[in-house]
Amino acid sequence: TQKPALAKEELLEKDRKYVWHHMSPHNDNPLIIVSGDGCWITDADGNRYFDGMSGLWCVNVGHGRERIAKAAYEQMKTIAYSPMSQSHVPAIQLAEKINSWLEGDYRIFFSNSGSDANEVAFKIARQYYHQKGEPARHKFIARHRAYHGSSFGALSATGQAQRKLKYEPLGAGFQHVPPPYCYRCPFGQSYGSCGLECADAVEAAINWEGADSVAGIILEPAITGGGMIVPPAEYLPKVREICDKYGVLLILDEVICGFGRSGEKFGHHNYSVEPDIVTMAKGLTSAYSPLSATAVRSSLYESFKGKDGASHFRHVNTFGGNQVSCAVAIANLEIMEEEQLVERSARIGKELDRLLEPLKTHPNIGDIRLFGSACGIELVVDQQSKTPADADLVLRVISGCKSRGLLVGKNGDTVPGFNNIITLCPPLITTDDELAFIAGAITEALESISS
Ligand code: PMP
Repeated sequence: TQKPALAKEELLEKDRKYVWHHMSPHNDNPLIIVSGDGCWITDADGNRYFDGMSGLWCVNVGHGRERIAKAAYEQMKTIAYSPMSQSHVPAIQLAEKINSWLEGDYRIFFSNSGSDANEVAFKIARQYYHQKGEPARHKFIARHRAYHGSSFGALSATGQAQRKLKYEPLGAGFQHVPPPYCYRCPFGQSYGSCGLECADAVEAAINWEGADSVAGIILEPAITGGGMIVPPAEYLPKVREICDKYGVLLILDEVICGFGRSGEKFGHHNYSVEPDIVTMAKGLTSAYSPLSATAVRSSLYESFKGKDGASHFRHVNTFGGNQVSCAVAIANLEIMEEEQLVERSARIGKELDRLLEPLKTHPNIGDIRLFGSACGIELVVDQQSKTPADADLVLRVISGCKSRGLLVGKNGDTVPGFNNIITLCPPLITTDDELAFIAGAITEALESISS
């Protein structure tokens, strides 16, 4: 375990003085993480925690992987950097590997973050209609509750209250429809007897906006950060049909769902749907190095080719697709393949489902939802009213988990009252014993709030 150079108090003092943390309000007492090993991380006091969120839905292969560190080191020794206006070996190899994971025929555009990848997708989608010589289309349909990133386009696509903070006006042309949220159906229906009104809402939005103005629909296969909202099986295939009917591009944000988290290689593989554009980040490198990608169906890419045979799309991105991140991603994906972590993800999900089953009778548990090994536990005041649990109750569960050595997430919407979903996204190397530990810690944390 790496020892911090400064004592905890000194570190905290400097942190309070110099560091501006992501996500407000400013966290005055952050964990100062110094090392990680497998699924566990250690703070500056030497406390060990199970990394129940894989960092921020990222570290699929766990911490401390020598093989990834070596891949980065070897690549850094070879060359510092060269821009992606040329090409290089790790980018070529990685683009081929991503294609094999996608099980389709895609062109890969590299950038640095999930937000970046979505911005690229929006620009490509808009330009696509120009390339085809059709009238311009500029609008996008997205969903309430979905998170797509922090930059202006991605924030405009985001359907959470945070888009309304102090950043308006946002990008024009982003329209939002209600999500396929069966536990709180926005259409007052029950799954099984409903007519998939959530998918009809997508079609209605296209018609309302005017189909000839809508460039694309962006959605996650399951809404993750917005509260683990897993759609009915028929939803995504129906949205695909709607896209085909109106000639609208289907953009899937697989920033979290991709690379095994869903129990399949990509989230959309659960629904046998072929997207036009797929964005990915996080699990691509397991967060060992920043990298994202926008995969575009090769048939679409063809229309970007000029008479010279080159693609005519301009999005300069200095670090996107840098050699080191690509080498890291290749090593990461090789580990996932060799250790069969996609299959493991599906098994983790099934085991978590089994272990958490007894909690379903707890009065504060409204719903437990799983998409592969990503899990959301929706906390309520009581099961009958389904009133979302207040911030204090949610915090008590999170603190109860933390005091038992388990870090979990809190998600939903940033609108007050709906940030009531405890999330779990364990590394894909989590053992069965560790899963039992997770379930035990959550159960005890919940029991302690009701006693
Ligand atoms: N899309 C989704 C679904 C995400 O969860 C996130 C980040 N949590 C992003 C996009 C943005 O990714 P980044 O933070 O790397 O910009």
